[in-house]
Amino acid sequence: MQLLKGKDVAAFHSHRMAQQIQAVREKMGIDPELAIVVVGDDAPSAMYAASMQRTARSVGLKASIYREAADISEADLLALIDRLNEDPMVFGILLMMPLPKSIDSQCIINRIDPSKDVDGLTDANIANLYTGRAGFVPCTPQAVMAILDYYHISLSGKEVVIVGRSNVVGKPLSQLCLQQNATVTVCHSRTNDLKAVCQRADVVIAAAGKAGLVTGDMIKPGAVVIDVGINRVDGKTVGDVAFDDAALRAGAITPVPGGVGAVTTMMILENVVCGIARIATIL
Ligand code: NAP
Repeated sequence: MQLLKGKDVAAFHSHRMAQQIQAVREKMGIDPELAIVVVGDDAPSAMYAASMQRTARSVGLKASIYREAADISEADLLALIDRLNEDPMVFGILLMMPLPKSIDSQCIINRIDPSKDVDGLTDANIANLYTGRAGFVPCTPQAVMAILDYYHISLSGKEVVIVGRSNVVGKPLSQLCLQQNATVTVCHSRTNDLKAVCQRADVVIAAAGKAGLVTGDMIKPGAVVIDVGINRVDGKTVGDVAFDDAALRAGAITPVPGGVGAVTTMMILENVVCGIARIATIL
C-alpha cells in the first residue's frame, strides 16, 4: 500500500513556485500580490486567511489581508473588489467565505475579474470548467488532481466514484476527472447502496464531511482512495474514510491530516503564479 503524502506534493509545488516568483521579481522588477478579503469576524475565515498569508510569504509572494467590518455595505465591498481588479500588481483575489448573511455572496464573487478569481468561484470560471475551457478551478478539487498527478496515477478509462456533490468539491472534481477520461459516478446522501457503488471503483474520492463513512469493505482491493473529508472527532482531525481498515485493501491512500488538505492552499498560490505567467513570458 502506498501512502499518498500531501506534504510531499505541497513541497514540490512550493519549491517550483518560489523559483518562479523569484524569477518574476528579478527579471520583471514587479512585486506580485495576492489580495485576501476577510469580511466580519468569522474565526475559521480569519485563521485560514492568516495561514494563507504565511504560506504565500514562504514562497516569496506578497499577500495582503483586507479586513472589512461585518456591517460593510454591498456597495463598499463591490468598490473594494473593483479597486483590486484594477490594481495591476494584484494577480489573485481570494474572498473568504462565508460572507455575512446581509450580503449577496454570489453578486460579490461575480464582481471579481475572472482572470484574478484564483479560487474558481465566479460563474465565468464555473462555465469554463464545465465546457473544458481554460480557467481557474476551486483549490480542493485541484489539490486532488495534483496528488494524482504527482504520484503518476492515471484516471484514463478508470471507474472513479466521488462521494459528495457540493459545488466547491464534488461537482468540480467530477468535471476534472471526466477531462482525464475517467468514467465518473457522483454519490450523495440519497444514493442507494453506497457500498456497492464504491466497491466497483478503481478510485474512490470521499468528500462528504462524515467521519468514517467509507469503510474498508467498500474498497475494491488495490483501489486508490483519496480522502478529502476533514472532521473533528474526540479532539482529533479525521477524514471520511476509516483509514486503518481501508488501508488494508487500498493500493494507495491519502492520510488525514497530511493529505489533500496539505495541498489546497498551495493550489491557490499556483493559480496566482498562473495569472502572472499570462503576462510574463519568462516562466
Ligand atoms: P458539503 O457541502 O456539506 O457537501 C457534502 C456532500 O456529501 C453532499 O453532496 C452530501 O449529499 C454528501 N453526503 C453527506 N452525507 C452523505 C452520506 N451519508 N452518503 C453519501 N453522501 C453524503 O461539504 P463540502 O464542502 O463538499 O466538504 C466535504 C468535506 O470535505 C468536509 O469534510 C470538508 O471539511 C472537507 N473539505 C476539505 C478540504 C480540504 O482542503 N481537504 C476543502 C474543502 C472541504 P447531499 O448533496 O445529498 O446533501
